[in-house]
Amino acid sequence: MSSKVQAPRGTQDVLPEQAAARAAFETRAREVLEQAGYARIETPIFEHTELFARGVGESTDIVQKEMYTFDDAGGRSLTLRPEGTAAVCRAYVEHGMHKLAQPVKLWYLGPFFRYERAQAGRYRQFWQIGAEALGSEDPAVDAETILLLATILGEVGARGIQVRVSSLGKLSSRLVYREALQAHLRANAERLSEEVRGRIDLNPLRAFDSDHPGTQEVMRTAPLLRDFLEPDDAEHFATVLALLDAAGVTYEVDPTLVRGLDYYARTVFEIHSTELGAQSALGGGGRYDGLVEQIGGPPTPGMGWAAGVERILLAGGSPPHATPPVDLLVAGPVGPDQFRLVADARRAGLGAQLDLAGRSLKGVLKQANRIDARYVAWMHEDATWELKDMQGGEQVAVADADAVVRDVLRGPSL
Ligand code: AMP
Repeated sequence: MSSKVQAPRGTQDVLPEQAAARAAFETRAREVLEQAGYARIETPIFEHTELFARGVGESTDIVQKEMYTFDDAGGRSLTLRPEGTAAVCRAYVEHGMHKLAQPVKLWYLGPFFRYERAQAGRYRQFWQIGAEALGSEDPAVDAETILLLATILGEVGARGIQVRVSSLGKLSSRLVYREALQAHLRANAERLSEEVRGRIDLNPLRAFDSDHPGTQEVMRTAPLLRDFLEPDDAEHFATVLALLDAAGVTYEVDPTLVRGLDYYARTVFEIHSTELGAQSALGGGGRYDGLVEQIGGPPTPGMGWAAGVERILLAGGSPPHATPPVDLLVAGPVGPDQFRLVADARRAGLGAQLDLAGRSLKGVLKQANRIDARYVAWMHEDATWELKDMQGGEQVAVADADAVVRDVLRGPSL
């Protein structure tokens, strides 16, 4: 025997029992988003590598070490999408959506790919649901998108939800802040982890994310971005918080919140679950007012988020679901009559299955109990049918297939 081929590390099969929970999640999430006027968009699984290099940022972990990048047969560098926002912005520009009524409100759901250290809650292929509102700077957009994710998580039953928000301000104040932070890091360089020390120039903000004890101690006295916000950004943020209060969203302002992507400005947020271990972030996002321009479009403000479907399900976000009922199980041997009966029954809206295992009649009746089938039908040699009600136990002779369908539709007793 040859050796077994296994699924690549960090990928997961979605088995039927999990597929049902996912489908239920998708249905509820779609209802919440569409009620709020968000329309679905699907972008390709792969894009030109340049989109992510420009749109996600050269200094990010994603672009530096996590992308699945390859040359296609035509010699173009392509990348499996590691996130959704850059591609949604590309589509917005490519399809001239700035000419539509603004903001354009879009949502998506699908697989994403990052070469990460695989562990519980962190995979190399994972699913994200996301929402983006392009074309408005209004703080109500920020508050509404945060509210939508919090609502979805609540509706699907994810447990231990904590909302954290912050504001990064505009780029100019971030640059002033960045210098102050770099000065603080350099002054304490010998106490920092090697990784953080190596990134003081490129990405000093990431020092807040470090779990290195020395670095954490240095960060406790680090300057905070909120003290560097310009008045209009501070006011924008205050309005976002007031609107969240008005909608009854419980949140915590976390001045150390740093998102792993370069494109954010002003509002950023994350939603965590206390039910999960180290990988506790269910979703996050923020405002990315410079991103559309960065990838060659007109200046366009934007705000959005993405959330991990696997993590939401791990946090208990799988609404109870019922397996579809089996109204009729038809015994074999399977010939044209049996086949037609099942097709007719399904056309009439019934859940109908054929016995495809060549079971004896006794075996089929046993199987009917196992799968909770309501009726079993089998054909006699004279082409008349027998129909048995598995709940009541009655059994009747029926003239033809049409009558079988009629009787099952009529139910419950024969
Ligand atoms: P991010 O844009 O990186 O903050 O990702 C948004 C959400 O997607 C996270 O909060 C996670 O729930 C989920 N996510 C990101 N990366 C992974 C991964 N490698 N495996 C599973 N879920 C992920």
